[in-house]
Amino acid sequence: MQQYGENRITTKKSQSSIVRFLLQFHQPLIYILLGATALTLLLEEYTDAAVIFAVVLINSIIGYVQEIKALKAIDALSKSMSTRATVIRDGRQSEINSLGLVPGDIVVVQPGDKIPADLRLFAVKNLQVDESALTGESVATEKNPETTNGDALLGDRHNMGFATTVVTYGTGKGLVVATGDRTEVGKINQSIASAEELDTPLTLKIKKFSHTLLWIILSLSLLILALAYLRGESLADAFMVAVALMVGAIPEGLPAAVTIMLAIGVAQMAKRRAIIRKLVAVETLGSANVICSDKTGTLTENQMTVQKILAGGEAFELTGIGYNPEGNVLFNGQTVDLSEKPALQQVLTAGLLCSNSRIVEEGGRWTAEGDPTEAALISAAEKAGITRQQTEPQYPRLDEVPFQSENQYMGSLHRHEDQTVVFLKGSVESVIRCADRALDKTGQIVPIDSAAVQRAAEQLAAEGLRVLAFAFKTSDPDQRQLDQQDLSEGMVFTGLQGMIDPPRKEAVDAVALCQQAGIQVKMITGDHALTAANIAEQLGIRGQTENERLLALTGLELQGFSDEQLQEVAGAVAVFARVSPDQKLRLVKALQASGKVVAMTGDGVNDGPALKQANIGIAMGITGTEVAKDASDMLLTDDNFASIEAAVEEGRGSWTT
Ligand code: ADP
Ligand code: MG
Repeated sequence: MQQYGENRITTKKSQSSIVRFLLQFHQPLIYILLGATALTLLLEEYTDAAVIFAVVLINSIIGYVQEIKALKAIDALSKSMSTRATVIRDGRQSEINSLGLVPGDIVVVQPGDKIPADLRLFAVKNLQVDESALTGESVATEKNPETTNGDALLGDRHNMGFATTVVTYGTGKGLVVATGDRTEVGKINQSIASAEELDTPLTLKIKKFSHTLLWIILSLSLLILALAYLRGESLADAFMVAVALMVGAIPEGLPAAVTIMLAIGVAQMAKRRAIIRKLVAVETLGSANVICSDKTGTLTENQMTVQKILAGGEAFELTGIGYNPEGNVLFNGQTVDLSEKPALQQVLTAGLLCSNSRIVEEGGRWTAEGDPTEAALISAAEKAGITRQQTEPQYPRLDEVPFQSENQYMGSLHRHEDQTVVFLKGSVESVIRCADRALDKTGQIVPIDSAAVQRAAEQLAAEGLRVLAFAFKTSDPDQRQLDQQDLSEGMVFTGLQGMIDPPRKEAVDAVALCQQAGIQVKMITGDHALTAANIAEQLGIRGQTENERLLALTGLELQGFSDEQLQEVAGAVAVFARVSPDQKLRLVKALQASGKVVAMTGDGVNDGPALKQANIGIAMGITGTEVAKDASDMLLTDDNFASIEAAVEEGRGSWTT
């Protein structure tokens, strides 16, 4: 680190202090005042000249000081936005601030990551990288670790990952070969756009207003001058009257006042866990009248606990709270004997093995490390006595297809005795699509009754439970790699797990406050429609109902609407489920077309366009990918809906007080 310096690309040299100070005079209204100073000097009215010039000077000093303060605030924000990187040091994987990377580090990248330094990739899995920032090539480049010619062009060096490019698909491991200014981007010095943006719609409006005002004041002054002269005053006196009018009429402090208010807004919001990335957002926030929010983790706690399991057509209940694996799996109120319930055993085993998360105990508190959904499944398996220590050695993992919101499933390939086994877990729809058979309660493989599975899943979802479906198949013993194709057919359905994810208490209040203030709250989620509707009801979200239940539309249903129909629907309906990123984009556009100012949350790789389109794109500080953060105007440090509400309140406050 000492040898190589911080891993950051030095930004464009910004304006010097003197230029910044002189620019304070570069405003039409100030020109008049300077003109007035010159005029009074000519007329030898030295006191007046001094007073007017003092006004100009003081105004510029105040403006300068405030601008420096605002820039400092923004600079601090951009530092707090620095990227995190997953590194392997001394054989242990950990997350560090990417500023601390040095050549020789091993970095792991996954979809949504911005590559933190130049990497020589040595292990990749379907890795695709968007290098448009570097090469201008808009199609994602596929990477592989094979050696290339020494003189290959940047775009052809498929075994390299370049700093600031973005992983769109797959995963990879690479060795850091260059950091900071020594990276390819650093060399080209296509320096990252600094977050310095002081123009907002309001300051622009004020600039325009100043111009108009300038002409009005000038014409009025001329008129007064003419009138005074015609009435017989001396020319000098007439001039002084006109100058007095000019000086009096000019609100020289106005532009500075706006910047001050915005900067104060930024600081206030940061205290309330909303980090503003663009100054303009402060102002827009105050006028937002629709908030489209993610469900999981933003409106809910993201504290999942499996409560019900359906396996082999039988229903089981689980006791215990949180991720703590103390608890029991009950069948008809009795603790189950796993050896009598082969389907249950399969469901739980799949949940344990087909996951990349862990549960850990710290001071008596159990927490999820990784995806909370997966942590809940691990805890459920352990409650039945299926532990990681025992099970993993029996099923060493060979490969995986990672979870992606768009696919709604994850698959993993394991060796088991002299066979290989594929496990699949995901949304009910995605798993049923791949399964043609099912396990019955005795462990026999029978044809699947898809309709019955759907009904069972809907029942769980209607109770507000998040539902995951499970399947497995044995495969070719020589198979070592798994891809989506392998998962798409011949799977044996084993069962469902339903987990609670309680609404955040503070979100209930925040939703109520929003709705009182005339701000619509809409839930947008990848989860099941019935789960979403139930949680939305618990949160008190208001919207179109059907049979006295909150109506939830799915992405599939949205596809059927024309843009005009969507406009109407988007306004009335409050819950949108199984929504894909491109449908998020359509929804934002539809709401905007009906005149709404839209705030929209997002965290995924493909949420960028929707976040950019929204009047305020809000990224999740904790779960959000770098791509989402880059596209956003605002960052929530706690991923909490209540913080959005607080920020909107601050935004309104900035202008009403
Ligand atoms: P949201 O974040 O809005 O709840 P997601 O896109 O995370 O939506 O999840 C959509 C669906 O994908 C869930 O309803 C669930 O069935 C499934 N799912 C979620 N997480 C995982 C996971 N880790 N592995 C497999 N499937 C998952
Ligand atoms: Mg999610």
